[in-house]
Amino acid sequence: MSTKVTLDSRPFIDGRRCNGRSDERFEIRNPFNGEILAVAPACSSEDVDRAVQGARHAAADGCWSERSPAERAVVLRRLADLVENNGEELATLDTLQVGIPLTITREDIGLCARKLRDVANRVEVLSEQHLPGRNGFLHINERRPQGVVAAITPWNFPLFVAIGKIGPALATGNAVVLKPSEMAPLACLRLGDLASEAGLPPGALQILPGLGAQAGQALAQHRHVDMLSFTGSTATGRALMQASADSNLKALHLELGGKSPQVVLDDLGDMKALAQRLADAFTFNSGQVCVAGSRLLIHRRLASELIPLIAEAAAGQTPGDPMNPATTMGPMASPIQRQRVQGFIERARSSGYREHLSGQEWDAPFVKPRVFSEVPREAELMQEEVFGPVAAAITFDSPDEAVALANASRYGLAATVWGSNDGQVVAIARKIRCGHVSAHTSLNTGSSGVRGVEQEPFGESGFGVEGGDAGLLAFTRARHLAVSSPWR
Ligand code: ADP
Repeated sequence: MSTKVTLDSRPFIDGRRCNGRSDERFEIRNPFNGEILAVAPACSSEDVDRAVQGARHAAADGCWSERSPAERAVVLRRLADLVENNGEELATLDTLQVGIPLTITREDIGLCARKLRDVANRVEVLSEQHLPGRNGFLHINERRPQGVVAAITPWNFPLFVAIGKIGPALATGNAVVLKPSEMAPLACLRLGDLASEAGLPPGALQILPGLGAQAGQALAQHRHVDMLSFTGSTATGRALMQASADSNLKALHLELGGKSPQVVLDDLGDMKALAQRLADAFTFNSGQVCVAGSRLLIHRRLASELIPLIAEAAAGQTPGDPMNPATTMGPMASPIQRQRVQGFIERARSSGYREHLSGQEWDAPFVKPRVFSEVPREAELMQEEVFGPVAAAITFDSPDEAVALANASRYGLAATVWGSNDGQVVAIARKIRCGHVSAHTSLNTGSSGVRGVEQEPFGESGFGVEGGDAGLLAFTRARHLAVSSPWR
């Protein structure tokens, strides 16, 4: 490996790396070869308290929140430059920790820098409203930072998801305490070093390596955390709502599980090309993507020809060392994750669904992509998030049936619709209950990196807007200020 990486796993508190107060530690392993990359301190509730108090202090003394949006934007743009200048190291760290092919983590660096520049530009032009009232009253609508924002993030795109929260939270003047996934804290911790270099004041960003049930829970229960922004499983999202209810009713912003449908009305004249695009949507990053298009809803007329082609296209990935640029599919992110996915496959087999697997199985640490067809609408494989390269297919006869199937899920994250009649495609897209619908493109590639895109999940996929101006305002509170001349 030629890129020099920093494997420092100590917490970043009040502007510098320091030692945690707990003796407990956890291992961060490379899922491709099982090597230990670092043994990190598992931050305790005492460490969380120290970080939250530091953030509280930074939020209260105005060192960050009272800077003008333009001044905050300067720091965020500097951070974007530093992320790009250190991009090879950050991308390598995420690849080593969770096995995402380096070609993908490198692309994510560009998206991270873009995100930081976007929130910097956007916050500068978001203006407050001054409304004249009766009798000389002046009404001001102002947006205030929430205060201390905790961010708890998953392992699938470690830096990218963290920046999606840190960027808008800092741009709007909050102090942030980030707890990255215990599987992948290293690149996120490096971000702390870069934030200091960019001129972020101490306390405005704290980063704690730690376990969900300890540091995560302590943050969720902390009475001085004003808002919690979380991406992860629906089960954890429920626990966080409970923790908010039991503590200080902190505001919540949750992006949870998904089981996104890909609705195919027509083959658009090229069945093979279509099969490839459908396959890409559930095999990208080994299917470890919350918006993976893992429910294939296919018009009965196309199913017998299309489904085997999708399985073939999905199996055409090149598995291997994620550091090798020729690899298109890395290992599953951990042995536990692989075991979970294998469990879904075995249960689908024993339920008698038809398995479409092109060629030989792959050995650990990989999972070969496949499709199961003839899966009933209420089956586990049709309803539960697998987080692996496995799709469940079902057929429909009419557009109305397609919409009903698309909405037959407790989740509502994303969907895609394919068909030759644009009017019909848009009409169907608008009937699907989810926060993002793509037409004629693989899931989310349509919006990735585009400025101004706003989306909010439906159902048990969570709530809270991400992206655009609304995504910035989600990290603020509205305040009405009424000013009159005294004793008129
Ligand atoms: P995943 O399947 O992506 O690991 P999780 O929801 O388990 O999904 O984890 C996402 C993040 O939530 C991680 O940072 C993890 O440490 C954290 N986490 C897990 N359980 C809890 C909890 N009970 N309270 C707070 N954070 C948690």
